[in-house]
Order: sequence, then structure tokens, then C-alpha cells
Amino acid sequence: MGSLLHNFFALQRMQLKNCNNITCLKIPFNLQQLKYLEVFHCSSLQVIEIEAPILSNFGFMGLRQVQLSLGVALQFKKFDMSFPGVVSYACTNLLSNLQYVEALSLCSRREIIDTPVLPSKFLHLKHLSVDLNAMTFSPTYDYYSLISLFDASPSLETLVLNVLQRKMLHESIVRDTSNLRQIPGHRHDRLKTVKIIGFSSAKSVVELTCHVIENTTSLKCLTLDTTTRHPWHSCLTNYSGKCLQLRADFLVEVGKGLLAIRTYVEPKVPFGVELNVVEPCRRCHDLEPLS
Ligand SMILES: [Zn+2]
Repeated sequence: MGSLLHNFFALQRMQLKNCNNITCLKIPFNLQQLKYLEVFHCSSLQVIEIEAPILSNFGFMGLRQVQLSLGVALQFKKFDMSFPGVVSYACTNLLSNLQYVEALSLCSRREIIDTPVLPSKFLHLKHLSVDLNAMTFSPTYDYYSLISLFDASPSLETLVLNVLQRKMLHESIVRDTSNLRQIPGHRHDRLKTVKIIGFSSAKSVVELTCHVIENTTSLKCLTLDTTTRHPWHSCLTNYSGKCLQLRADFLVEVGKGLLAIRTYVEPKVPFGVELNVVEPCRRCHDLEPLS
């Protein structure tokens, strides 16, 4: 492996998968043509050092945090990272290498601390995806703190957030009488498409959604999906012709999420913006009407 990396000067694309014996990966400076690097499921990996000068597309997927050591001049165009805690890690440690990023995707099953306020902006970021899909996401995590990432991206065109939780323990907005938090943010005039998957009645999710609507003048389409989005779960696509039954407590939360949309989101959606609310199939599920 080491010899390959030091001798294949013309290497442009590299994918490393399930290499479980590697603890430290060094991508040397002499790989002057290397543009794409993907590192997936290398379970012992702790450190990745990248000195290849024109690497612009990077993907990493792992079950635990990896330490990234990046050449100062290195600038990514497309950057995908998945491990627990990656949102706060990227916002704290990788800003200088993400200044020119156009597509950023962060996937985390757990965040210990809220997303920090960013000292600089992602001026070129057009596509942002944050996937926090988990069985139960830490109930102390404030989804509203993601506005720091959103407001630091003035060129944003599409935003996809996945906040799906099978068992939601966050404070619900239903029957909460306190006001929604409102922080003035950057006025987005390029953002057209926003999709929130796993929309729930978690108060900080509703606040985040309202912040996005109120600070986006260019919005064309807002999708709020309250389902699990699993294709096998739908009677339209599986063999049995019946949806896989969702758990009763999940369906109760779906009902609360739909109520939160009707109460807090719908009245704020401007005329001309297409609002798509996705809910579990009514043919196979009894959705409790909440009011
Ligand atoms: Zn169905």
C-alpha cells in the first residue's frame, strides 16, 4: 500500500474499503493527480493525513471519529463525512479547508455538543446535506443550533436535513405555550429547495424550519417528510401489498409532527411556495387525529 502510494504518480481516483488493519493513512504530496479519495469502513483507522495538492473530492464513512490532518492549501469542492460527532468536528476543525466547498454532506448518529457559531462562511456552498438520523438522537442536542451552518452558507441552493428518530425524546412543541425562538439570520436569495426528512414535533426542529422559511426569499419547494422513508415500508413498493406497520409510539409522534406543521409552519409558508407534507400511508395506518 505504502509503495503504491509513493509510486503511482498518475493516480487520480482512489477508494479504500474495509481495510481493517490500517490505523494511519498518509496520502503523500507526490500524488499530484489525485482528485478523488474515498475511505469507507476501515475500522482501525484513527488518522488520515492528506498532502496530495489537488484533491478536491473526499468521502469518509466510519463508526468512530477520525483525525484529519490536511495540507493548508488543500481545498475541497465536494466533501462527505460520516461518523458520530462529525457536525461539530467539521465546524470546529475543517473550516479553512472547506472555504471553497460546493457540496457538503455530514452524517452523524450522535452529537455531544450543539453546532457552534462559525467564524467564517462557506461562500461557495450550494448543496448542504446534514443527516442526523438515529434511533434516538441526544435529547439535549439543539437542532436550532444548525442555523449557524445554514446562515454561514449564503450561496445555498438546496438543503436536505434528516432528523428522523424512531423514538423522539426531544421537548415537543405540542401543548408548549412558550414562544418560538427567533434570531435574525442571513437573507437567502438562492435557496430554492428544502427537504426535512423525519420531521417531528421537536420544538427545535419546528423553530429551525420556521427560521429557514422566514429567511429565504427564493424558496420554491419545501418538503416536510414525517415517514421513515424506507422503500420496503410502503405498500406501493413491497411484495405483500401492505405497508410494514410502524410502531404505535412512532405514529403518535407523526400525528404531533403533522399538528405542528398545521399550527406553526403552514401559516408562515409564503404564497407561491410549494409545501409538500409526506405522511404514512392512510390505507395501512390509523393516524390519530390530534387537535
Ligand atoms: Zn400502505
